[in-house]
Amino acid sequence: MDRQEAAASIQSPADEPPLPSALTSETPPAPVRANARWDDWRWQIRNRIRSFAQLTEQFPPLRGHRAIEKVVERYPLAITPYYASLIRVPGYQDPIFRMSVPQAQELCDPSFLTPDPLEEEADMPVPGLVHRYRDRALLISTTMCAMYCRHCTRKRVAGTRETSLSVARLREVAQYLAAHPEITDVVVSGGDPLTMSTSLLERILAALRAVPSVQIIRLGTRAPVVLPQRITEELTRMLRKYHPLWINTHFNHPQEVTAESAAACTRLADAGIPLGNQSVLLRGVNDSPLIMEELCRALVRMRVRPYYLFQCDLVRGIEHFRTPLSRGIEIMEYLRGRLSGLAIPQFVVDAPHGGGKIPLLPNYIVSSSPTHTVLRNYEGLLVNYPEPIVPETARRAFPKRAATGVWGLASGRLSAIAPAVTVRQRNGHREYSPGDPRQTEFAGF
Ligand SMILES: *Cc1c(COP(=O)(O)O)cnc(C)c1O
Ligand code: SF4
Repeated sequence: MDRQEAAASIQSPADEPPLPSALTSETPPAPVRANARWDDWRWQIRNRIRSFAQLTEQFPPLRGHRAIEKVVERYPLAITPYYASLIRVPGYQDPIFRMSVPQAQELCDPSFLTPDPLEEEADMPVPGLVHRYRDRALLISTTMCAMYCRHCTRKRVAGTRETSLSVARLREVAQYLAAHPEITDVVVSGGDPLTMSTSLLERILAALRAVPSVQIIRLGTRAPVVLPQRITEELTRMLRKYHPLWINTHFNHPQEVTAESAAACTRLADAGIPLGNQSVLLRGVNDSPLIMEELCRALVRMRVRPYYLFQCDLVRGIEHFRTPLSRGIEIMEYLRGRLSGLAIPQFVVDAPHGGGKIPLLPNYIVSSSPTHTVLRNYEGLLVNYPEPIVPETARRAFPKRAATGVWGLASGRLSAIAPAVTVRQRNGHREYSPGDPRQTEFAGF
C-alpha cells in the first residue's frame, strides 16, 4: 500500500458505512461493579471481552461491522471489565474506547509500517531477550496482557498466544546475563509481566537476582492502569524482596487515573518501588498540551514520575494513531516552564532499524560563538551564557563595537533580550524593558 492508497483507506476504512463517532444510540449499561468478585484480578482476566461477539454484546452498534471483525481475527482483542467501565461515552472519541476497541483503520497497511520496526528480533541473542544497549537488556517475559492496547508497539507478539517464558528459556537468559556482566539493568517486559502468577514472576526475578552483575531490575507493566486489582499485598510482599526494583507503567490519559489505579500506585510506592510512566502520544487520545499537562500533574500526585512520552513506532496497524513529530515538540514547548521538571517526561522517538531512543526537544540554543552561547527560555527571553575564558578566546571576549540583536548576545555585548511581558515581571520580581541598561550591564564578560 503506498501513501495515497493508505490515505484513501483511512478516510473510508471499508465498504461499510462509517461508524458514528459516538455510539450513543444504544449505550449499554456500564458493567456492574456491585459484583462480589470485581476486586479479584483473576475474575477480571477471566471476564475480559475477548471476541467480536462479546464486543458487540457490550456495544451493539458495532454489530455487522465486518471490518472490525476482520481486525479481531488479525490482532488480538482483550478488555478487562474494569477498563471497559472507564468508558464514559461509547465511541471512538472516548479515549478509553479508542485505546481498547478495535477500529477498521487497523487494516491500513502503508508500506513504511512493519510488524517489527525496531528490529527487536534481530537483537535477540537468546529468544525473548533484546540486548540493544550495552549496559541493559529487555526481557519479553510473557506474551499476555490484561488488555490489548490497539496502539501496541509489540502487536507482533502481544496476545498472539498467551504464553510465558519457560523454565528452559529462563535458564538460557540467566546464562547469557551471567556471560555478559556489562548488563547491569534488566527490563522485564512483555506483554505484561503482571499477568503472570506471583510465583511464576518470582521465579523470573529470583533468576535475575541470582546473576551478580545484574544491579537493577525494572518491570514494565500496564496493570496499574488496566488491572489495578492485580497490585495485591501478596504481590508487593514478593516484589520488595528484589530491590532495587523499579516499575514503569503506562498511563496515557487522565481518564485512566481513578481511585483504583491511584490505590495500586500507592501500594507499589509504599513498597519502596520508584514508579515511572511511559506514555505513547496517540492521535485523538492525548495529542494535546492541555491533556498531557493534566495527566502529568495527576501522575506526580500519585508518586509516578513521568519518564518517557513516546512517538508512535512505525508499527503495522497503528497508522491512525500516529501524530506528526511536531505535535510532540509542541507539547514539550508548552510543558516546560509551566510544570515542574519533575512532571515533564522526555519526548523520544524509538528510531527505526534498532537505532534506539532519540530525545526531541524544541530548540533552546539560538546561536553561539566561541565566547558566548545564546539560549532562549520558554517565554522567549534570550540570554547569553558566557563560556569560560580560555587564552584562545580571551581577545574575542571583549568586542569593541556596540552590537545589537542576537549577534549582540553571541558576541557578549548584550546580556539579555527580554520579551515585553514575563512571569517574573508579573510576580513583581524584576523588570526588563527594551533598552534597559541592565540588559547590557554584563556586556563584555
Ligand atoms: C527502551 C529500551 C531499554 C531501556 O531504555 P531506558 O532508556 O534505559 O529506559 C532497554 N532495551 C531496549 C531494547 C529498549 O527498547
Ligand atoms: S500493555 Fe503494553 S505490551 Fe500489552 S498491549 Fe498494551 S502496549 Fe502492548
